Amino acid sequence: MQNEFTPKNGGISVETEHIFPVIKKWLYSEKEIFLREIVSNACDAVTKLKRLASLGQFEEDDEAYKITVTLDKDEKTLTVTDNGIGMSAEELEKYICNIALSGAMEFIEKYEKGDDKSGIIGHFGLGFYSAFMVADTVEVWSKSYTDAPAVHWTCDEAGSYTLEGAEDRSRGTSVVMHLSEEGKEYLESANVRAVLDKYCAFMPVAIFFEDGSEPKKDEEGNPLPPEPVNDTQPLWMRLASECTDEEYKAFYRQVFGDFREPLFWIHLNADYPLNFKGILYFPPLRSEYDNMEGQVKLYYNQVFVADNIKEVIPEYLLMLRGVLDCPELPLNVSRSYLQNSGYVSKISAHIVKKVADKLNSLFNTEREKYEGFWNDIKLFVEYGCLRDRKFYDRVASSLLLPLTEDGKYETVDEALEAAKETHEGKLYYATDKVSQAQYVSLFEERGIRVYLLSGPLEMQYMGLIEDSKKCKFLRIDADIADALKGDGEVVENAALEELFKKVSGNDKLKVTFESLADESIPALLNLSEQSRRYEDMMRYYSRGESFAMPAMTEATLVLNANSPLIRKLAEVSDNGARESAAMQIWSLSLLAQRQLTAEELKSFLKQSYQTLAGALENL
Ligand code: ADP
Repeated sequence: MQNEFTPKNGGISVETEHIFPVIKKWLYSEKEIFLREIVSNACDAVTKLKRLASLGQFEEDDEAYKITVTLDKDEKTLTVTDNGIGMSAEELEKYICNIALSGAMEFIEKYEKGDDKSGIIGHFGLGFYSAFMVADTVEVWSKSYTDAPAVHWTCDEAGSYTLEGAEDRSRGTSVVMHLSEEGKEYLESANVRAVLDKYCAFMPVAIFFEDGSEPKKDEEGNPLPPEPVNDTQPLWMRLASECTDEEYKAFYRQVFGDFREPLFWIHLNADYPLNFKGILYFPPLRSEYDNMEGQVKLYYNQVFVADNIKEVIPEYLLMLRGVLDCPELPLNVSRSYLQNSGYVSKISAHIVKKVADKLNSLFNTEREKYEGFWNDIKLFVEYGCLRDRKFYDRVASSLLLPLTEDGKYETVDEALEAAKETHEGKLYYATDKVSQAQYVSLFEERGIRVYLLSGPLEMQYMGLIEDSKKCKFLRIDADIADALKGDGEVVENAALEELFKKVSGNDKLKVTFESLADESIPALLNLSEQSRRYEDMMRYYSRGESFAMPAMTEATLVLNANSPLIRKLAEVSDNGARESAAMQIWSLSLLAQRQLTAEELKSFLKQSYQTLAGALENL
């Protein structure tokens, strides 16, 4: 029955006459958010009614609260229906015609002013009028929970509307969007479903999607009751003490589609004064070539907002995966405002503290397991330390250094303790176990620990530790370590110096004499620690492509006065034999560092064969 209601026609006021074209033009790229806006309004309508019920102002019946999204391909409509609070004619006029519109206007003004189109996070809060991004006509049918009669409102894309009484209907609101040319992709059921999955998967009211297809059937052919498309009780909303490991893992799989298990996770639950919840997962290491960026999904009261909002959480935490629900985050403000907001920096500080606490507690209580994870998490931890001194200070005592011996780790403090007596706070490291193998064994034979620091961040990370712990890292093949020196007499020999300058083809080559404990090594090419780090840095930046080793021009050739070979060389008078032996030694010292160029390698091989031939001839 039609109720007593004087129909009204209206026009959206003059100042806003261009709103629809503007909405379409500006927000075109992210038009899918219309569904989030309309469905979350429906959710709010249910939440409001529940609150009234809890205050005793509304008596609940048996009907379950729900939202239905219906796609009608023939009518070309997409309808969102809820059984929430509903609206009377006055409310509809007030909230939809005035407030909703002014909200959209305000939003667009902000949006238009901003230079950068991504100024507003995920276009959050655009509201009801975002429906016009995909529809040319929008109808609202509503029946308030009060006695107020049902109403019907229709608005076209030019902004003129009619408001009239409607036949009695059950409590709640239906928003019918007549899909326009721009919205025709939502005539495809899969496209609607994808948007629901993206934005509405964890909304707090059950959402059903009806696209006219046959209901699923059980084994006997009986139709199964429809399943909601969302999970109204996402794991992060529950208490950590009530969630099992299996549930955390299943949630990870569901949200990130990763079949590998997360290493560990942190359930965030801050009540007061901050109010936010979430779960952060430490993912297993992905292949080196993968983008290191993880995925942290931001929610606002269980409504998905956007991925990886670096204004809300520190950049390095974006290497993790997780969900973060911040119901107090002002999302319709610009990103730069968010960045400077005290609330956001408190959230960040809280998360950083929780992450550090988790690492420390794993280290303190499950060290073996923690060591097992280290390879997967070290990039994250090191990067975090470099980006955020507070994070470094919090985790400093749980930072590990891998030893060259497989699977062995020490903390920085343990390493320094071990180095205290023997080599006065110097920590020796290798960057490559293969090319530096000769040195690694020289150190290991003397019982000196060598750490393996080979990742791309390592140089800066070492600098950070050197600075804070007042220690020194030295690459094992830099600045011939005291530890390698023997106590033999060192005799300088100008003739040998000349000889090596000649065979190396570099008359500026620096040649020095040392007495090394290991007499089997005639010569070593030595670089300063500084040049080594420069060289390493160049290698990372050139990403494995060959590059001229500028650092090698600074190398010093150290001749071992303790080596019988060098002593013998000093005595040989036959010029040809002297030169070919010196050439051999020079090439081998380059080879030990994998520094031979193609030309050098060719002539080294040729010369080696000649030497061999000569040796056999003399037999
Ligand atoms: P916002 O939700 O940010 O307030 P909207 O433009 O989305 O802005 O909606 C404006 C108002 O219209 C809402 O605050 C609400 O009062 C009313 N409204 C919208 N959708 C519904 C609905 N499904 N049921 C009841 N009221 C609604």
